[in-house]
Amino acid sequence: MIQATNIHKRFKQFEALKGISLEVAKGEVVAIIGPSGSGKSTFLRCLNRLEMIDEGSIVIEGEELVTTNAEGKIQYANEPEARLICRKMGMVFQQFNLFPHLTVLQNVVEAPMTVKGVKYPEILPVAQELLRKVGLEDKMNNYPSRLSGGQKQRVAIARALAMKPDIMLFDEPTSALDPELTGEVLKAMRQLAEEHMTMIVVTHEMGFAREVANRVIFMDKGEILEEGTPEEIFEKPSQQRTQSFLNVVA
Ligand code: ADP
Ligand code: MG
Repeated sequence: MIQATNIHKRFKQFEALKGISLEVAKGEVVAIIGPSGSGKSTFLRCLNRLEMIDEGSIVIEGEELVTTNAEGKIQYANEPEARLICRKMGMVFQQFNLFPHLTVLQNVVEAPMTVKGVKYPEILPVAQELLRKVGLEDKMNNYPSRLSGGQKQRVAIARALAMKPDIMLFDEPTSALDPELTGEVLKAMRQLAEEHMTMIVVTHEMGFAREVANRVIFMDKGEILEEGTPEEIFEKPSQQRTQSFLNVVA
């Protein structure tokens, strides 16, 4: 589903990603862990073109979003194509980014209607079903300001799913939540994993990574330092830096 190869990303002189390569298969749940500033968010943002890369290639479901030729020249797909490719991925951020002036239901139907041109009668039952799945059927007509953080994040998940993505990217979806609210969001994500959604999840929730992920990636200073099954990473990491990180967070 995702083939990212040798991704380099610089901000001025600073190299935030130093040659990241990652392949994700259909239905796989990949957790990315690592210290703050290691490039986790930047990597996710490169995948869906919120950041442009400086070198490397990204292929999503066999379609080239960006490639680098033998001379090192970077080539992005043209704008309409790139937009279609990136539409295969839904993203949920740490900050929920809901539209404050729209109700929960309106937040969920907005993108399918404006971006894809889906008609309201068609998207309405889809949105209702998604909101039911994340346990918010009784909040559909509320405004985001009336919701808890956990409820807002579940709306954000339903909203991303309304675009019918093949891949979901989560960037620390529970980091802005009070501890007692993280469970309900993780539950919605776990359910999605059980339905075999392909997912990349940047998270500090080691319990979630251990139980739900098929593969765990440890990033440090713009590189993938090690990767393996949850058991390999959490029980017997091969790198000292992974161990020290886990000692602090787990
Ligand atoms: P993480 O998500 O792992 O905490 P980030 O991907 O947010 O890390 O950041 C990686 C590094 O890149 C950090 O040092 C950060 O300061 C830097 N960085 C991220 N975005 C920008 C930007 N837009 N401009 C300059 N530096 C950035
Ligand atoms: Mg981040």
